[in-house]
Amino acid sequence: VADGLVPPIVTADLEARVRASTGIAVARAGTTPAHLLRDADLAMYHAKREGRSGFHVFDGSLLVAVDERLALQQALPGAIADGAVHVHYQPIVAVPGGAVMGFEALARWSHDGAPVSPAVFVPLAVDAGLMAELGGGVARAALADLEALRALAPAARLFLNVSARELEHDGYAERLLAALAAAGASPADVVLELTESELAREGVADACHALRDRGFAFAIDDFGAGWSNLGYLRTLPVEVVKVDRGLLGSGDAAADRKLLEGLVALARSLGIAALCEGVETEAQRDLVAAAGFDAAQGYLLGRPAPLAELAGVRAA
Ligand code: C2E
Ligand code: CA
Ligand code: CA
Repeated sequence: VADGLVPPIVTADLEARVRASTGIAVARAGTTPAHLLRDADLAMYHAKREGRSGFHVFDGSLLVAVDERLALQQALPGAIADGAVHVHYQPIVAVPGGAVMGFEALARWSHDGAPVSPAVFVPLAVDAGLMAELGGGVARAALADLEALRALAPAARLFLNVSARELEHDGYAERLLAALAAAGASPADVVLELTESELAREGVADACHALRDRGFAFAIDDFGAGWSNLGYLRTLPVEVVKVDRGLLGSGDAAADRKLLEGLVALARSLGIAALCEGVETEAQRDLVAAAGFDAAQGYLLGRPAPLAELAGVRAA
């Protein structure tokens, strides 16, 4: 877009140069046009701040006021270095039956006594080039808890969120293997969660193939919420698709069910397990079971909690 604007506009007595900054936002399931425009606008102002004639892709951290963002940006590196980023675990349960098959590790950080959403601080860590430290810290802490998690649910595997930026760092696989070895665990004990949009980044598929060769398996996070090139479902060792919670709540239960059944059938035909995220109500749990999902996750089935508060989850 901006290239088309580079030649100056020449009039009789004036030469004008126009420049464009671009904000990009991608609609997720449930995004309204007004939200999409707001997100694109915020991204555009960020692009302007970064130096003009560029573009920026919206992320949740842009919703935070500039001064607050600055304070968080300053505090985050120390928090990561000091181990002040903690991990909560959300159970992943079998459908039907409810046996716990895994735990998703979710990063938690409080600043000035108030919790900061990972949707805010993860993008800040990405911007600051601290994703290897943040993700590595979460992985090490979660692996150190694996034995205790297995005492609650013997068959449980650890689901780790991975940002594409971590994979871009050299030695990601070696560091993860070292963390596994230190915890007496192996690649088969973990599932690496990546979103479709992260997978689309250059170099990520190659990094995933290298991880596959070392025995790692993947879950596709927020499945159905972004733009898909489903080819990766054939080429990557995808074990689970995690259907985005946005696909649960259109308000039209019959249409939801058809869409969900289609996604389950797609996964099943490829030998991939289907998990539905964001199950909050009994009606949603019934819908997920009726659509044939293998597993589910959501506040109804278990909220993310620190290890000490997980007692009482039902073992497989
Ligand atoms: P995600 O990977 O899609 O994680 C699921 C999010 O949905 C979590 O939000 C979880 O608390 C929330 N959730 C679970 N059940 C329900 C439900 O029934 N209803 C609703 N409304 N929400 C539910 P959280 O913990 O705020 O994390 C937000 C995002 O931050 C995660 O989305 C993930 O993309 C990212 N994130 C969190 N921890 C890490 C991490 O250690 N590494 C990386 N790379 N990203 C992380
Ligand atoms: Ca996830
Ligand atoms: Ca998700």
